[in-house]
Amino acid sequence: MKTVPRRQFIRTAVIAGAGLAVSLPSVARSGAAGPKPALLGGPKAHPGEFPGWPVFDQTEEKALLDVLDSGTWGRLGGSVVAAFEKEYSKVFGVNHCLGVSSGTSALYTILGAMDLGPGDEVVIPVYTFIATYNVVVLNYALPIFADTDIESFQVDANKIEEAISPQTRAIMPVHIGGSPADLDTLLAIAGKRNIPLIEDACQAHLAEWKGKKVGSYGLAGAFSFQSSKNLNSAEGGAVTTNSEQFVQACYRFHNQGQGGQTAAFNPGEGTRASNLRLTEFQGGLLLAQMTRTEEQARRRNENASYLTELLNEIPGIMPAKLYEGTTRSAWHLYMFRYDKEYFAGLSREKFIEALNAEGVPCSSGYGPMNRQDYVTGLAKNKHYLRIYGEKVMNQWLERSQCPQNDKLTTEQGVWFYQTMLLGKRTDMEQIADAIRKIREYAKELSI
Ligand SMILES: *Cc1c(COP(=O)(O)O)cnc(C)c1O
Repeated sequence: MKTVPRRQFIRTAVIAGAGLAVSLPSVARSGAAGPKPALLGGPKAHPGEFPGWPVFDQTEEKALLDVLDSGTWGRLGGSVVAAFEKEYSKVFGVNHCLGVSSGTSALYTILGAMDLGPGDEVVIPVYTFIATYNVVVLNYALPIFADTDIESFQVDANKIEEAISPQTRAIMPVHIGGSPADLDTLLAIAGKRNIPLIEDACQAHLAEWKGKKVGSYGLAGAFSFQSSKNLNSAEGGAVTTNSEQFVQACYRFHNQGQGGQTAAFNPGEGTRASNLRLTEFQGGLLLAQMTRTEEQARRRNENASYLTELLNEIPGIMPAKLYEGTTRSAWHLYMFRYDKEYFAGLSREKFIEALNAEGVPCSSGYGPMNRQDYVTGLAKNKHYLRIYGEKVMNQWLERSQCPQNDKLTTEQGVWFYQTMLLGKRTDMEQIADAIRKIREYAKELSI
């Protein structure tokens, strides 16, 4: 063995201790052993509670009672949903907002207003909530998956063009976790190919790209107010758009083909529609909740930046990269990759179990959607076989391969949740402590 000067040896040992040589437990443990992981009988690194959700007080109570007392509980003939829409479009810097019954309804309304149908294709990310897929399939159109940029967890914008065909009617990126997808690249492709860009911003309230809110860049944006989301009215959603014509088409689609109360809305156009209206109770609740969103977003942002700083110090933990144009993430999720090579081979599942035991809630997040029976079964769906034929559906299965996403979902992805980021700075420190402790005892934990 080559002798190394002492100073260089110390440096090497420090780097080794930081992860490269977990095969040297004496280095990894560095003298006095710290407290044991909770899973091995030690104390929890995070013994307290993270903030609860939803957050509310008399403001919400009054908003709900006011609607109750008014006797007008639905938006038709009411003014509360309309007031919410006005406030939302102001805060989000868009010309128009339409409240609808859910985030899924928002996407469905957008696609309905575009008159999407059988034979059409929509390019969507494979790393997303199933609703993004469902709304395409509800229209008997073909969802075409684009693979994931595993560094950011966002759709790989460089994989969009190869997913486009003459049948492509929309490109529908998702700002997953509340962080913006690579909008510059996506907009350039959409512009070049003359295909509308629809932003699934269901997780991305108040997120910004180059200083402008996401959901304002494409033809339309979709937001969700489902209980877990950063803005909550139990269920609910919104369409945002800068196009007067498009918001009218959306209004009609969500209201049985009828225009609204204002003369600007033009009934009678279009041939398909539904009832996807938001109620006045939800409008009131949303107006009340919106008095809190900016402050909550600021807190999440501060904590997320601090957490990233702390986690970047831990080998094998890679916080999701934010693209350069990101001026603000909504931090609906805090996503990072886990590399077991730096944790003595400790499986991601065991790592997650150990972290949960420390009082730090986490999960592995989305699975490989394109491989799940629910999705692959589409190739055998009798309606799809009638519309597209067996050959096209088999080709669709072939086109659905996403190797990067397979790696992310089956080996590396880990999530924390937005409410954890509403905690204190010390909560973030304890999250990092928990991970460091697990790493220190990774060998014992993997047995
Ligand atoms: C939550 C969510 C939806 C659907 O919103 P709902 O209000 O639950 O219908 C759609 N897309 C994404 C990315 C979501 O996270």
